[in-house]
Amino acid sequence: MLNKNNIIVEAEKLDFADIGFTSAEPFDSQTEVLLSRQKEYKWAMDAGLDLMTGIDPKNILPDAKSIIVLIEEYFHESFPASMEVHFGRCYLDDDRITKDALALRVKAFRAFLRDNGIDSKVPFHLPHRLAAARAGLGTFGKNCLFYSRKAARQGSWVLPIAIVINQEFAYDDPTVDVGCPDWCKNTCLIACPTGALKGPRHLNPQRCISYLSYYGQGITPMELREPMGLWIYGCDRCQNVCPRNAPWLANELPLNKRVVKKVKDFDLSLLLHMDKEYFEAKIWPHMFYMSSDDMWRWKMNVARVMGNTLDPKYISDLVQAFSGSEDERVKGMIAWALGRIGGTEAKNILDKILDPSNGLVREEILQALKEC
Ligand code: SF4
Ligand code: SF4
Repeated sequence: MLNKNNIIVEAEKLDFADIGFTSAEPFDSQTEVLLSRQKEYKWAMDAGLDLMTGIDPKNILPDAKSIIVLIEEYFHESFPASMEVHFGRCYLDDDRITKDALALRVKAFRAFLRDNGIDSKVPFHLPHRLAAARAGLGTFGKNCLFYSRKAARQGSWVLPIAIVINQEFAYDDPTVDVGCPDWCKNTCLIACPTGALKGPRHLNPQRCISYLSYYGQGITPMELREPMGLWIYGCDRCQNVCPRNAPWLANELPLNKRVVKKVKDFDLSLLLHMDKEYFEAKIWPHMFYMSSDDMWRWKMNVARVMGNTLDPKYISDLVQAFSGSEDERVKGMIAWALGRIGGTEAKNILDKILDPSNGLVREEILQALKEC
């Protein structure tokens, strides 16, 4: 029969940065949050993510007795700058589809439990950050992120993995609290470019760049295009500016070779011109929140980013993609990007594409010409 220490030793052997234990009681405080913010989280329900069901671990494993939370440090190696500037770090080496890295270690951990008579489930809709805090593994930031008590030098570059099990172990003391120092005057709230952080620990997901980059409906509203800056998928700004993350960001880390291999596939021009085959082979296995039906959003995001680089080298790509696209959201954003880059070349192109265009695309071209 396993004791708690045997499990801790196994987690260390498998290179998890930390481990904690909590009860399988429902996360009642989360019920209030979800009920009071139904409109903000409607997208998750619409996407088939039933967050309400995840509140009670017994919905996941009927004889649930405890939750083990493992902490994975996803930023223990550095990433190429060309990737970090456009994609949230937690997605750069995400193996939830390829299942060839972290998934293998979680699988090995569960096999160890199973071999010792413990059933387990790894739910995707349980409030995993709250589970981690309840297991005493760290505290929250006012940016809603979870900060480890020891991994990543107490930073937020961690991924809590909640594992519901059918055996009881001594629970760790909860640390469900905000751990921000008084002297930090809400830097994250001020730095959020789209005003998604409405107050300490109150995020409006529908204003958050991460959400907008993979679930935003329709062409990105004009007032968000510049603030969304160079982000294509995800956003790390409220983590980058946080003083609680400064100790880890000061680290010299070896380059993540798995991510280095992906750099060429995530080139902006290739993303703007990709077809379904390319998307499904090179992109989707690593960043999968959008299916091939939503490739228009990838392209719209890339066009916005090209515009926000202010780099005229992208004009020819944008022109080629404009004539090759049928999607008015992509074409409209290309027109905006040309206007944002500006200059005589971009203006001449906008003049040329105005006549044959109509509807939303024509409106965007007219607006872009005003900006030029
Ligand atoms: S991830 Fe970006 S957009 Fe979302 S709250 Fe943080 S800074 Fe704001
Ligand atoms: S920026 Fe300041 S307020 Fe925001 S999470 Fe970090 S320490 Fe807390």
